[in-house]
Amino acid sequence: MRNLKSYAPLSKASASPSTEGDAMPESDSHFMLILGKPGGGKGTISKKILKDFSNFTHFSTGDMLRQHVREKTPIGKEAKKHMDSGRLVPDDLIIELVLDEAHKEARKGNSMLLDGFPRNIAQAQALDKCVEVELVVNLDIPNETIVERISDRWIHPASGRIYNYSYNPPKVHGKDDVTGEDLIQREDDKPETVLKRLESYEAVTAPLVDYYMEKGVLQTFSGTESDVIYPMVNKWINGELEKNKRPQ
Ligand code: ADP
Repeated sequence: MRNLKSYAPLSKASASPSTEGDAMPESDSHFMLILGKPGGGKGTISKKILKDFSNFTHFSTGDMLRQHVREKTPIGKEAKKHMDSGRLVPDDLIIELVLDEAHKEARKGNSMLLDGFPRNIAQAQALDKCVEVELVVNLDIPNETIVERISDRWIHPASGRIYNYSYNPPKVHGKDDVTGEDLIQREDDKPETVLKRLESYEAVTAPLVDYYMEKGVLQTFSGTESDVIYPMVNKWINGELEKNKRPQ
């Protein structure tokens, strides 16, 4: 019934007035989102998707913001205040950064997997104005699993390398494999902050599920293990991309 569509024309305001329009991507360019609670395995599933669908480039707003924080850029300094307390960073700070990136990839004709954006309806509406979202993978993971998982997650702050004591432990407990430096728990991975993030997800981000369901582009995958969920995700993406190939 539904056809995946190619990118909608990008905002005229930011498109350059050259002949670049000729290079606009058509059917081979896709835009995918991954939605799910914080700590719900978005990163793991994203990695698997990128391995199997290698024409997609990954863009994680959490990673991008953490890089700004590490580099102490003005954006990073502002974002840190919100991130450390488990709140979303303000829309006016994040939307432009993401749309610039989406716009850039779309112009190159690349497919993109966006992870961590949109987080609310205002961000989704802003994204809609820039590109056409065709596939939304919604991960539905129980809260207990998430709290357990997050408390096992430790990072090497200088590089951003992530370890998990259950399934991806460092060689030496508490030390980074490459540098041997101490691992720390992210401020926003501490239990009280995790609960705040889960509450904020329910209130602010969960409505996106209905938003994209109404557009007919979302599929929900429930479970606790990425290895069990992923084969279903892979099958669904393949099916959707296949549909897109069919002649109209
Ligand atoms: P997780 O995947 O663990 O939920 P992320 O790495 O996606 O967390 O994001 C970490 C933090 O970065 C969030 O708690 C929030 O403060 C900020 N952040 C990331 N993406 C967005 C966004 N789209 N809008 C607002 N804040 C964001």
